[in-house]
Amino acid sequence: MVITNDFQCNVCNSITRIRVQLGWLENYPVRIKCGKCNISIFGNVYLDQQNAGYSIKLKNVTLLEDIGNPEYLIEVSGELLTEKMRPYSEDEDTFLTPFFKNGLFSMGENIGEFKQSTMHFLHKIENDWPTVKRINELWFNGNHTYLPKEIHKLLDKTKFPADNEYELLRAVHVLNFLFTNNFTGNYFKEITTHIFNEFRNINDGNQLILLAKHFESHLNDYEQKLFGIINKFIEKFHMFIPIYGLDFYSEKNDKEDVIKKLGLTTVDFEDIKDFYIDTFEDIGDILNLVVTYNNLKHRADFKKMKENVIKEIQVIEDYIKMRNKGRKLEFINGEESFDKIFVSKVDNRLRNAIGHRSYTYDVITQELIYFPSGELKKGTSESLYLTEFVLECFQLMRSCIGLAEIVYQTRKFMYVNQGIIPRTLQDYYPSSTRPKNKKQPNKKKTIKKISKKARQKNRTR
Ligand SMILES: [Zn+2]
Repeated sequence: MVITNDFQCNVCNSITRIRVQLGWLENYPVRIKCGKCNISIFGNVYLDQQNAGYSIKLKNVTLLEDIGNPEYLIEVSGELLTEKMRPYSEDEDTFLTPFFKNGLFSMGENIGEFKQSTMHFLHKIENDWPTVKRINELWFNGNHTYLPKEIHKLLDKTKFPADNEYELLRAVHVLNFLFTNNFTGNYFKEITTHIFNEFRNINDGNQLILLAKHFESHLNDYEQKLFGIINKFIEKFHMFIPIYGLDFYSEKNDKEDVIKKLGLTTVDFEDIKDFYIDTFEDIGDILNLVVTYNNLKHRADFKKMKENVIKEIQVIEDYIKMRNKGRKLEFINGEESFDKIFVSKVDNRLRNAIGHRSYTYDVITQELIYFPSGELKKGTSESLYLTEFVLECFQLMRSCIGLAEIVYQTRKFMYVNQGIIPRTLQDYYPSSTRPKNKKQPNKKKTIKKISKKARQKNRTR
């Protein structure tokens, strides 16, 4: 259903006809601008499904009782991409609703799946996130007194005994996976398979252990940063919904064309730009780990950096010391195996422009024109639309799930090295990654036995 109303701007008095698509979200944010004086018009749409009621609350405009003589026209939707704001004309006013045009026609039968997946995730945010969040917090704080009890509120005790650090980590990881799997799509499966295959191909298990030890003191910091990013994303998820919908477009639609043509009314550029900058900043340090795995894979030495990228950066310690996170990204350009973690090309040009405010944003076309030089009007400008930018943020978020996976695997190597392995998993570890320091005496015998077996296996290989 579409509700059409005319609203008058409280500043310039111009009238905008706003066609509000009522879909299946109980409430959603509205972020648009006045077409004439460019001030923000913002608020929420609330839907009361049971009583078939609704309310549209917008700031900086006044609802006209009668339909007026509008100068601008815009559609608003919480679920779908919409036509951008444009000068009013009667022909335009008869346009199909977003539901038909950018929902049913674009997604086809996938639209049901889109609805179900979004609603499921919103339900999880409301009901499960507080528990998953506090479990993560207990983990970061090293508070293992309450942690198992909290974990067993959500996970089966037999499958997840949570009786040592390795098991606690595994349970926390599974809970995070179960929570985020709605929006990671195929990416999670693809990236974990890729990471596993790469680890399997690394013959020198000892290097994996050395690598893990090298990063031991940083892993907690990495985990916390990634968790912080996920938390921010969850708080903003409503703004991302129409972009998430792109995942469900049927193949015959040219997404690149759609994304340039259509706009978003759930988010304003200013609402989201800090998320981009902060995420970029936070993953800057975690790049150290990605690059290290590349070194191991491509140069058989986790310390040896890729040559001819930056002359002075020869070993991983040089890289870790680099302050310029943009330049650090030059080592991740899609050529090496673990670069695959990044869903889209993460480059410093946009970040630099936003960070230095060297951009202009057109509120009508939703086009961002930016100067990668970091100075307005200096050098060549580049541009992208708000939809493309929000998609970038979304892809960056997905990349963080891949980063979290690699941090998780590194921590597992660390535990194995410390002799902390659950009994059931001991067979998985090759002899070269076998624990040297056996902390738990009751496990000594089992580990020894497996070690012998593994050694025999190695010999026959
Ligand atoms: Zn105005």
